[in-house]
Amino acid sequence: MACIFCRIASGELPSKKVHEDDLVFVVRDIKPQAPSHLLVIPKAHIASLWELEDEKLAGRLLSVAAQVARTEGLEKGWRLIANSREHAGQEVQHLHLHVFGGRPLGRMLTPG
Ligand code: AMP
Ligand code: ZN
Repeated sequence: MACIFCRIASGELPSKKVHEDDLVFVVRDIKPQAPSHLLVIPKAHIASLWELEDEKLAGRLLSVAAQVARTEGLEKGWRLIANSREHAGQEVQHLHLHVFGGRPLGRMLTPG
């Protein structure tokens, strides 16, 4: 199985999961770009938000992201990012939501 997040989901690759339920799990990003940088990942292989049709799963992803932000103590603010497909620079082709926080995060997009 090639997909890195499927391998983490199945337990083939060891990981420290911050949260796990029947639909999603959360891990810390291996290359954190903020003091808190976590990934909310569906257990099922879905390539990106473009392919997401399951509304129950969509709701779970969002509510777990907010739950993780609260657990991380990000009351000053945090950001949710889903890079989807080529122009967004998606590197791992398995849907994931980035939760960023713990410092001022600047503008939403760099100019250009
Ligand atoms: P994206 O550009 O949105 O596809 O981001 C993929 C993210 O996955 C990057 O921030 C990587 O640092 C992160 N990443 C890749 N492999 C792993 C891994 N094994 N465990 C945790 N994070 C990972
Ligand atoms: Zn996958």
